[in-house]
Amino acid sequence: MPSTTTPEAGTAPAGDRQTHGFQAEVRELLQLMIHSLYSHREIFLRELISNASDACDRLRFAAIADSALTAEDPEFGIRVDADPTAGTVTITDNGIGLTREEAIANLGTIARSGTREFFRSLSGDEQKASALIGQFGVGFYSAFIVADRVEVRSRKAGVPAEAGVRWESGAEGDFTVETVTLPSRGSAVTLHLKADAREFADAMRLRGLIRRYSDHIGFPVRMRKEGEASLEYEVVNQAKALWTLPRSEIKDEEYKEFYQYLAHDFTDPLAWSHNKVEGKREYTSLLYLPARAPFDLWQRDATRGLKLYVRRVFIMDDADQFLPLYLRFVKGVVDSGDLPLNVSREILQQEPAVEAIRAGLTRRVLELLAKLAKDEPEKYAAFWKEFGAVLKEGIAQDHANQAAILPLLRFASTHETADSAAVSLADYVARMQPGQERIYYVIAESFAAARGSPAIERLKERGLEVLLLAERIDEWVMGQIENFEGKRFKDASRGDLELGGLASDADRKQHDAELKESKGLLKRIKDSLGERVTEVRVSERLKESPACLVLGEHDLSEQMRRILTAAGQKAPQAPPLIEVNVGHPLVKYLDGVTDTAQFTELAQLLFDQAALAEGVSLSNPPEYVQRLNRLLVRLAGPGAPA
Ligand code: ADP
Repeated sequence: MPSTTTPEAGTAPAGDRQTHGFQAEVRELLQLMIHSLYSHREIFLRELISNASDACDRLRFAAIADSALTAEDPEFGIRVDADPTAGTVTITDNGIGLTREEAIANLGTIARSGTREFFRSLSGDEQKASALIGQFGVGFYSAFIVADRVEVRSRKAGVPAEAGVRWESGAEGDFTVETVTLPSRGSAVTLHLKADAREFADAMRLRGLIRRYSDHIGFPVRMRKEGEASLEYEVVNQAKALWTLPRSEIKDEEYKEFYQYLAHDFTDPLAWSHNKVEGKREYTSLLYLPARAPFDLWQRDATRGLKLYVRRVFIMDDADQFLPLYLRFVKGVVDSGDLPLNVSREILQQEPAVEAIRAGLTRRVLELLAKLAKDEPEKYAAFWKEFGAVLKEGIAQDHANQAAILPLLRFASTHETADSAAVSLADYVARMQPGQERIYYVIAESFAAARGSPAIERLKERGLEVLLLAERIDEWVMGQIENFEGKRFKDASRGDLELGGLASDADRKQHDAELKESKGLLKRIKDSLGERVTEVRVSERLKESPACLVLGEHDLSEQMRRILTAAGQKAPQAPPLIEVNVGHPLVKYLDGVTDTAQFTELAQLLFDQAALAEGVSLSNPPEYVQRLNRLLVRLAGPGAPA
């Protein structure tokens, strides 16, 4: 027999019926649900069954401390009833239930501020909304996708029968609550289906949906047996928590469906890893890599983490202690055999078992990524596009696993035409030239700026590959790594290029000769630029450009300086070093200029342009423009219009 009994509608003490307005964001959300959500309408069922399952989970957890709560009805279950004649569907659970106050608070607002903002930003984008619904705790309101009136009858576990609540809304902007008497604990949500959603009152349809979306929640979902007027109920889902089954018994399709339930996602996951660890620590984990980034991936207060179970008892959602921050995109379940049932978030922080599980799960995810990169490179490319920038944080956050993360990085490169990051460090090393000792990279504000950076002209000419970096985090990340497979990283815009075995004797000879010949010119440039530069050098980097600025190995980059200054920190900087291309016609011309004023003017221009190419803002832009204009006027000659 089913253990769930419907909290029947009772009589209300007269006069306690109240009407409340929905929070403004809920009103907007409801409008969106009602007027623009036509695809995937069936998600309402998954969301409501998921809520029912959460309610059972929560009561089971509460009953650990107070067994009286479930004494009279210890077996949890969910029931779905359809009435095609009345056009209703009712989802009933014997979970924790709601008090009147909770119904007002929880079924009238959206709690998380991030969710509210996100919804505002959607401004009616139906496709995006339908794909993301549920991800942000709007699960209950999805009832209004198919219903024009929703009733909830609920009695909190442990409260007297007379303290039940009946909540009702037509989604018009308000809802009513009244106190009712209900014979048993739990909630019943009744949907009065819209005319165009009557299909959902069909039992066959509902069974199909339950099997599809709710097969592996941990509680039985029951429906009336088929056949006219049958009063008997039967379980329609497997009701076996998926992760507790052996891998060999689970089909890919089942893994995917479970992911969709867990992540409230419609797309299939990219990959998953299901493991049971036995021995000193015992735990089971089922971890998924989603195919798409959630809307709040970059929000600080976003929820993240795994669903935590202890010996199959649900403990909490969003347990974020089990994975490092840079793996926050992973969805899944961890079921521990070691933790106490009464763990709280605070206890988790100090629990040694958690640290061990976290290390194990981190390794699993990195292994899963490595496998995906090896076996299914297109899928890995899709992963990198969505989550690469997050994974990269691991280089700085997780030194212990740096060696495992490095091969997972992907870069844009001078050897690729597209700016998408497709090159691994292994690719790079495999095509290094004989004699090449460094892995060259350059960081700029954009890929275009990195690709065009004067600092890499010679490297490009020599056919040496340069990794192109243009994300904010890159400066920080690259600062944390020394080498890959024994090859040191080298920022092409700093210090010496360290060409090592690449430079031939002829190169060296030419460079020495240039140095000798240019001594006088370098000194004149230095004298003209004065305090603006620390040193003027002959460049081994440049080909097309006449000059470039070079940072010392440990100087702050322009990008870093901007970040620090924006954060209100001091970012002192020694003047840069300027390198000139002595083979460039402009520099040759400069060498021939004898008039000191004219020389200084040109040298200043050279410097300003080098700074601009580097993305450095000029200290006095009007001065630069005037200089350039004077030059242009001179070039235009006496015949030019005044
Ligand atoms: P979420 O479940 O993500 O918090 P919902 O909009 O689905 O968001 O539900 C809002 C809240 O309403 C839940 O957090 C819970 O407190 C309450 N709730 C919804 N359904 C039930 C239910 N069947 N039993 C008890 N509480 C429920």
